[in-house]
Parts: sequence; structure tokens; C-alpha cells
Amino acid sequence: MKEIILIKNGELVLKGLNRNNFEDTLIRNIKKRLEGCGDFSIKKAQSTIYITPESDAFDFENALTRVGKIFGIAGYCRACVCEKEMADILEKSAPYLENTLRNATTFKVEAKRADKRFQYKSPEICMELGGHLLKNFPHLKVDVHNPDVTVTVEIRDFNAYIRANQIHGAGGLPVGTAGRASILISGGIDSPVAAWCMAKRGLELNAIHFASPPYTSPRAELKVKQLLEKVAAYSGTIRLGIVPFTEIQEEIAKKCPEDYFTLIMRRMMMRISERLSRERNSLALITGESLGQVASQTLPALATTDAVVNMPVLRPLIGMDKDEIVIISRKIDAFEISIQPYEDCCTVFTPKHPKTRPTIEQCEEAEANLDIDALVEKAVAGTQYSYID
Ligand code: ATP
Ligand code: MG
Repeated sequence: MKEIILIKNGELVLKGLNRNNFEDTLIRNIKKRLEGCGDFSIKKAQSTIYITPESDAFDFENALTRVGKIFGIAGYCRACVCEKEMADILEKSAPYLENTLRNATTFKVEAKRADKRFQYKSPEICMELGGHLLKNFPHLKVDVHNPDVTVTVEIRDFNAYIRANQIHGAGGLPVGTAGRASILISGGIDSPVAAWCMAKRGLELNAIHFASPPYTSPRAELKVKQLLEKVAAYSGTIRLGIVPFTEIQEEIAKKCPEDYFTLIMRRMMMRISERLSRERNSLALITGESLGQVASQTLPALATTDAVVNMPVLRPLIGMDKDEIVIISRKIDAFEISIQPYEDCCTVFTPKHPKTRPTIEQCEEAEANLDIDALVEKAVAGTQYSYID
């Protein structure tokens, strides 16, 4: 029996004239993400994408797991390919659905007749197939309102397809359709979740991490890479820049008032990130900040970090509670990595009494002794790149 994967586009059905562009990006992303699963061909028709294996070696399970993490997909499922004849549909349905229906109590049949020339009308298809399945699985009952399994028959241009329940896709928009942005990634819980949230809205990701060896360990960098691998399972390849930050932190510790350490450090991160982003045609910065979570995430504090950059700062977690963030962190399998205890540069020089209501002028005064341009230049020049996927 020949089997394929059927994919239903998500929100992009709504995009009018942009639809082709969105679908083409989605298809490109699918092709790339299924590399290594075996040979397959891919085509689209009527907001459905068909993945047809071209050899027996195609790894269905692996492919389905990967498809479940591609943004822009509302739902997906395996489906059995039939001739466009009722006899063939009936003959293949019982063996194909055997495993699914044996464990179900109730079912219903739905028919989608994209080819209106098919000799049976939808209610007739449902009657015929429903009756046939009841004969083969006498323990089943029909429940049209809340069935365990919905068997769907799709009559399309060249073939008919039989499938059981569709699986929910990752939703969102295909990565790349919204342009590119840079995630400031720490080893914490929040920033990988922020990265995932924005990739979901179609952004391709660059990542920037500030490292302060020897205060921070190589294990902290490894942790960031492991976290990005979890995000990349959804977003596709991420280019990571690791910025040398030790000298900047030492300079801040030497030349600035202690209660401004964190704020000035965050302002330096933003300046450097903006520079690195512009070089890469990345149009916004993304952080994992959530309002009021810590002293540097009050509104006045956020205003002082926004003030040093001229591009949008996206903070998708701004209105979320920690519990809500942790749910996503677990869902993307990042949580266990995030809670490993390696030091982050933020914890290296933490003020005892951080400023919670700073003004922009106070910050400018507090950092007046730094040679900001030179420090930014040097950090940008020393940034080391790698690709995570
Ligand atoms: P996270 O859980 O992401 O570490 P947090 O709640 O601990 O966030 P902070 O440590 O104050 O908050 O950092 C706020 C944001 O600043 C982070 O979400 C991240 O976007 C960015 N950030 C913090 N430290 C770094 C770093 N070492 N490199 C890059 N970005 C960082
Ligand atoms: Mg942190």
C-alpha cells in the first residue's frame, strides 16, 4: 500500500496575493528539514502539500516528527493513496485503518470531494465506506459529534486518499516570511522561549551570546548551543555569534557606579547587538524580558535599554508569567538544559542594590567614563561565528 504525508497549511491560507510566496517558502523549509529522511517528492495543490516517498528507505517516523516542528503547518497526517474508484477505496480502507480502528470505540467518515466529477456524492461515499468499515470492525459505533476517529476520504485530481485523525501542526508562519531578527540568548529559561515565539511568527533567527571568560565557563557556551539546537529544530539553521564581553564587564566594574552595573551592561549588549544585526540584514532585536521579573525589567529600565538602539526590540514574553514561559520551555524540550547551573555573564558583577527607576540621563552619566565606541568596535571585531542546526 502506498502511503504519503499530507500537510495542511496554517494561517497562510489567509494571505491573499502573498499566498504563493508563503507556500513556496514553506515547501523550501520542508525540503530542507526533511533532508536525511530519504528520497521524496513534494507538490502543492489547494492549500495541501503532498510529500510522496520515492524509496522504501524513507523514514516516516522521523519525517513526521520533523514536520510537527515546522512553522506554517496547521495539521498533518499519513494517508493511503488509492485509485479514484470506490472499489479500491473500500478494499484498501480496512487494512490501512486496522491499527487505528481496532483501538477505537467510535468513528465517523467524512468525504472531501475536490473533484466534483467523481461519480459518488459526499454522503454516498460516507455511507458506503462507513458501512464497509462497520462490517469489518463490528465493535465500532458511529458518532458524528465526538468520534474517537474521523476517517477522511479526499477525492483529488489524480488520486483518492484515506486518512485517520489529523495531528496538530506547530502553527505560525513559515520561517523566513517575516524577515530576519537577532535573539540575545543567555543560558536561562526565557530567551530560548522568546526565540521560539518569534520564529513561530516567521522570523529567521540570528543568535548573539555574550561570554565573559574566565568568569563564565566553556560549559555555559555549550549550554547556549544546546539550547539553540532545540530552537533550531523549529526555526531551521541559526547563525550564532559569541561576543567577547569580559573586558567590557571589567571596565564597567572599574569605571561606573555599582547600582548601574546591570543597566549599563544591558545597554552595551544592545549596542553591540544592533551593530552585529545591521551587518547581517537583521531588522530587530529579540530578548527574553518579562515585565517586572527583575530590577532590569521594569518599564523605566527597559526604556534605558531601548534608548541606545534604533531598531525594534521584540519582547514576546513581556506579558507572560514564569509558569507560562516554563510550559513553552518544556514543550520545546529546553527546560532541563536551561536549569543546569552554569554561570551567565549577568551574574558576574551583580549590584547589591540595582537601580529600579533609572532615567536615561542618569545612565548616560553613569557610563560617561567608558570609551563606548572603542569597546563596541573591539567586541564586534572579536565576535566568533558558528552555525547551529
Ligand atoms: P533569561 O532566562 O533569558 O536569562 P532572565 O530572566 O534571566 O532571562 P536577564 O538575565 O536579566 O533575564 O536577561 C534579560 C535578557 O537579556 C535575556 O532574556 C536575554 O535576551 C538577554 N541576555 C541576558 N544575558 C545574556 C547573554 N549573556 N548573552 C546574550 N543575551 C543575554
Ligand atoms: Mg538570565
